[in-house]
Parts: sequence; structure tokens; C-alpha cells
Amino acid sequence: MKTEPLPEGVLAQRQEGLYSITPRVALGRITLEQLNIINSVVQEFGLSGVRVTAGQRLKLQGVPADRLHEVIRRLGPVGEFCKYYVQACPGTTACRLAMQDSMAMGTKLEEFLNTLSLPAKVKAGVSGCSMCCSESFVRDIGLVGKKHGWTVVFGGNAGKRVRIGDELAENLDEDEALRVIGAALACYEREAKQRERTARFVERVGIEMVRSSIK
Ligand code: SF4
Repeated sequence: MKTEPLPEGVLAQRQEGLYSITPRVALGRITLEQLNIINSVVQEFGLSGVRVTAGQRLKLQGVPADRLHEVIRRLGPVGEFCKYYVQACPGTTACRLAMQDSMAMGTKLEEFLNTLSLPAKVKAGVSGCSMCCSESFVRDIGLVGKKHGWTVVFGGNAGKRVRIGDELAENLDEDEALRVIGAALACYEREAKQRERTARFVERVGIEMVRSSIK
């Protein structure tokens, strides 16, 4: 029997017949309205709980299969899937060490990434200074705020084969940084194998291929 594909952002849990849903709360920012909706859905459907993930997202757990679509409907726009996660530190909105506005940059990057369909999972970390609290050098896309602008890093990974990302460009304003990221990802989308993360892709083809695509 052909099984129906799960909606984006829905994952089968280890326990049979239960699912988790990851609502779109970009950069871990949640409004009061979003919290109220999530809270009422958890109560109304008697869900087992909500977990904050490592990527600053929320996961609603314990959704029974027969109520999955109803829960998604009740979540409304909050239930939109956050395709590629972007982690950002507070930057100039709160941190005294910050050189750049990482929340604003992260918001633009998250919106941009969610328009793409890439060969594998892509994670991004946006840090407002060289302290790199958002672990920018071990993310597929990393941004580091410095005095004269953004440094773009590509191909990092913090998984079982750790890879430090390569710097592609520095001293960029927000639009220039997005252009460089867009060009690097276009190269990745064109040349990578299905499910090949950026770190493994760079190891296979060499960072010079990515660098030449951003010129
Ligand atoms: S990366 Fe820098 S700006 Fe961001 S929270 Fe850490 S110290 Fe502050």
C-alpha cells in the first residue's frame, strides 16, 4: 500500500503512531501570539510536550497520527515549516561585544534560505562578533560580524566528522553577504550529490570551485 508523504516539518517519533511538528519560529524568536497558539494546541490535543531544539526551534511532541492534520490546521501560520535553520546570537540588540546586527542579518538569511531547495540539510550560524557564539565555523553557512562588515564562511560541520568552514569573503554589507551566500549555494545546488552536506561536498570538489562561483 502506498503511504502518503508526511507534511514538511513533521517527523515520525520512535514510538509508533506518534509524530512531532517543528513550527516556524525563526531565530528562536517567539511572539506572545505564537506562544498562545502553541499553548492552546498542546492543551486542546493533550500533547506530551514542547521541546526547544539545539537549533533554537520548538518541537511539539506526541501528536497522534489521526489528529496530525487537525493539529497543523489549528497551528495555522505558526505551523509553517522552518526549512533550513538559522541560529543567531543577540548581536547589537543586546551584546556589548557585538560588531554587527546578527538578528537582522539572520532574519534576512532565514527568509532567503527558505526560498531555496537544496540537496541536503543546511544549517547556518550568524555571530555578531569573532567570539562566534552561534558556532559559525561549524555550520554549512557561517557569518561572523567584524568591525568593517560580515565574513562569510562555507562548508563547516559539527557532526561526527567535524569540519571547520572556509572563509569565502570578508568586510561585506548585508546585501553583499547574501549575494556571496547565494552564489556559493547555487554552486552547491548544481554540483552536489543528493543528501551530500556542504562539508563533504567541499572535501570532494575543493573550495576553489565554490570560490570561483562567487566572483
Ligand atoms: S558572538 Fe559576539 S556578539 Fe554574539 S553573543 Fe557572542 S559575544 Fe555577543
